[in-house]
Amino acid sequence: MPGTSAPSPSRSHSGARAFDALILGGGIAGNALAFHLAHEHGWKVFLYERHTPAGGASGKAAGIVSTQCWNAWDIRAVETSRKEYRRLSEEHDETLFLETGGLRVVSSEEGERGLASAVDRLRAAKIEARVVTAKEAGELLPVAKVDDARAALYTPKDAVVAPTDLTLLYGRLARENGAQVESDLGAAEARPVPKGWELAVGGHTYSAPKLIVACGAWTKGVLGRLGHPLPLAPYLTRACLIKANVRKPFPWLHDSELDVYVRPFPGGDVLAGDGTELKEVDPEHLSPSSDLPFLENVAGFMQRRFPAWASSSVGASWHGICTSTPDRRPMIGPVPDAPGLFVLTGFNGFGVMRAGAASRWMADALARGRWTELREVDPGRFEPPYAPFEPRPGFTLER
Ligand SMILES: Cc1cc2nc3c(=O)[nH]c(=O)nc-3n(C[C@H](O)[C@H](O)[C@H](O)COP(=O)(O)OP(=O)(O)OC[C@H]3O[C@@H](n4cnc5c(N)ncnc54)[C@H](O)[C@@H]3O)c2cc1C
Repeated sequence: MPGTSAPSPSRSHSGARAFDALILGGGIAGNALAFHLAHEHGWKVFLYERHTPAGGASGKAAGIVSTQCWNAWDIRAVETSRKEYRRLSEEHDETLFLETGGLRVVSSEEGERGLASAVDRLRAAKIEARVVTAKEAGELLPVAKVDDARAALYTPKDAVVAPTDLTLLYGRLARENGAQVESDLGAAEARPVPKGWELAVGGHTYSAPKLIVACGAWTKGVLGRLGHPLPLAPYLTRACLIKANVRKPFPWLHDSELDVYVRPFPGGDVLAGDGTELKEVDPEHLSPSSDLPFLENVAGFMQRRFPAWASSSVGASWHGICTSTPDRRPMIGPVPDAPGLFVLTGFNGFGVMRAGAASRWMADALARGRWTELREVDPGRFEPPYAPFEPRPGFTLER
């Protein structure tokens, strides 16, 4: 689906159409960045998505937005994103955002200790959170069978969003604020030029002082081909829809020991997902294994935690590719030793809930040249040469 064009930009000496920033990748991160740069800073932005907008991980995501994170930066990022998504939903489309609350159930002593420190972290960040007993968790989600759990962490302001629609909305708002957003015009060739970067695609050349790579799982390959590798590992993760005929929304639930989550989905369905396949994949040459072991794992989880829904049929199952980093923190900022080249990725399976804030803070940093808010996630924090590493699951409260 080709995008529409913004007013004609000026041309550089080489004849390229001149912009303030070029963005590669039309997932939620790239589109949100295009919007924030154009809207808050009045930048002339060109965004290129090589296939379908939201066709990468953003269109496959479960859409859980939870402040139950293991780190103060992440909590702040999710909380900022959450508020942005709620506002966008109020202003544009009420189906984008639903406040459901979230429950993380633990069955071990260690898990219970994890909840206690998570509550401290959340309260320090002024997030409403409390540890509840198994009985209270059962009252918050009566269809769940959690009486054998030790405790649960409840965050009442957690939400679920519609990730594809949110991504497309950011793209639309970026265009309405003057960005040029294009897609599906073939491979884009990026190259450094004396005053920044040029992108050649669809028979035109676009130039800007800054090029931001927001290609999700494909970022590793894009940066490698540009001669600026970073330690990233794409990995596969799966989800499915269960035709449970649910009548009322319910808090999303994650079982820490079984490592499966569920959330309410429009139309009375339940979306379920589990952790990740802990090995690196090449997103350009993907040969995914069968969904069967995943579906069996979800079936076992449903029997144990949601017996009332256990016999419901599976409507669809799918996989998407996420991007891991060695320390499970995002990678946002200047690419080391590559003038004018930036990266926005490495969300370790939680990019929807961080993209609003990450892109807003990155837009501010690009415009002001100050990276204070993003220092902790600076891509330069890793020492080359980069050793291969295994992706690690992300839905935990521990480092
Ligand atoms: C099953 C599943 C469940 C998930 N659940 C959640 C959840 O509940 N909450 C949450 O926060 N996150 C969740 N995630 C993670 C989330 O989807 C990602 O972290 C997020 O979507 C990443 O967004 P992105 O824009 O960085 O990448 P993507 O959405 O992957 O976008 C990258 C885009 O770049 C494009 N591209 C690639 N190469 C090029 C190129 N050379 N030129 C131009 N464009 C290019 C791709 O086509 C793609 O559209 C889930 C992911 C999966 C797969």
